[in-house]
Amino acid sequence: MNKVAFHTLGCKVNQYETEAMEKMFEDKGYEIVGEDDLAHIYVINTCTVTNLSASKSRQFIRKVKKINKDSIVAVVGCYSQVSPDEVESIEGVDVIIGTSDRKRIVELCEKAKKDRQQINIVRNIASLNEFEEVDVDDIRSMTRAYIKIQDGCNQYCSYCIIPYARGPVRSRKIQDIIEESKKLASSGFKEIILTGIHVASYGKDLGEIGLIDVIKKISEVDGIERIRLSSIEPNLITKDFMEALLTSKKVCHHFHLSLQSGSNSVLKRMNRKYSKEEYREKVDLIRSYMPDAGITTDIIVGFPGESDEEFIETLEFVKNIRFSRIHVFKYSPRKGTPAAKYKDQVHGTIKSQRSESLIKLAEQMMREFNYRFLGKKMEVLFEKIDGDYYEGYTSNYIRVKVDSDKDLVGQVVKVDIHANEGDYLIAKVGR
Ligand code: SF4
Repeated sequence: MNKVAFHTLGCKVNQYETEAMEKMFEDKGYEIVGEDDLAHIYVINTCTVTNLSASKSRQFIRKVKKINKDSIVAVVGCYSQVSPDEVESIEGVDVIIGTSDRKRIVELCEKAKKDRQQINIVRNIASLNEFEEVDVDDIRSMTRAYIKIQDGCNQYCSYCIIPYARGPVRSRKIQDIIEESKKLASSGFKEIILTGIHVASYGKDLGEIGLIDVIKKISEVDGIERIRLSSIEPNLITKDFMEALLTSKKVCHHFHLSLQSGSNSVLKRMNRKYSKEEYREKVDLIRSYMPDAGITTDIIVGFPGESDEEFIETLEFVKNIRFSRIHVFKYSPRKGTPAAKYKDQVHGTIKSQRSESLIKLAEQMMREFNYRFLGKKMEVLFEKIDGDYYEGYTSNYIRVKVDSDKDLVGQVVKVDIHANEGDYLIAKVGR
């Protein structure tokens, strides 16, 4: 039996697309093996956001060529899309595919194997207007399943390469999303996470349809108990949106609202489309409808020109909002983006100091948020067992551990919270 192995870099969307490509190979009779195992074909699904794709791809190719020097290596994804010539010149690469045409991966790998010739089918994606439908049966490793509902982004934040790597917004047809939700429900998944490159833009290319329509339709799928939104932009939050969300009992009280900076001058240089005052309003609106909502965010420190004063402004804003979790990123320039050419790049030591102080503040705020729920009853979807404890997440995205004799994995269970430890809560199964 022919064997294929995958190596995935980057975000959840890439993990999702790897699953889809695995299925394409399985449908053609291939066996999926681990990336350290002997395989006939190795696929690297690359990312361009980390800036490390080139070296990681090279490392991986060197490794797999030692395992099987005759293997076929395919490089797919954002890095191939943005730098196809660079990928072409990496020794040992046989197939190069960008962020479209992944459906042809099996055919192209087999052709490269037969002809022993490099194939590069990366094409310009700026004019793509259709969502590439790929079939994913399940996300094997998790209780929660991701559904990709759109691709691409039209926002052009000055630090981000994604619009160049993924092209414009293309939304998936609602019927296809519902079909996939039903399949996931019948495989036992209880929670669906709506994911994409810029989820807030869902429907912009389809006319009279938006994210809320997707949420309402998935709410009707039997077996799905929770719907979680991945990262969204503040501008999506309106009174109408919140009221519509409340009509579904399944929507998680968790909003990952990208902030990136709490300083208006930095936001402007980042080409973000909101001010901190507007952001604050959106958070207040969420909390007025869902007082227990977990508000999480991403923040970039050390953006070009970020002064001490601007960073302090961000710290003050963060303290004022009181996030339940923050992902802190140190800015690193991406070739091909406007911000990479800005003259006043911030020194690495300063970025590290700023990152450390923000992480410290974030940890403190997370503990404070978790503490609010001591003594309360909460529902937890349990995902795994770790040592003596079952672990899962609440609707508002707090990690909870429970000691139980019964198997809880894959179930939504009511628990009594009785202790707060590190970054999680400890509970007993409720009565
Ligand atoms: S919204 Fe900005 S940061 Fe997010 S993908 Fe689009 S361009 Fe990149």
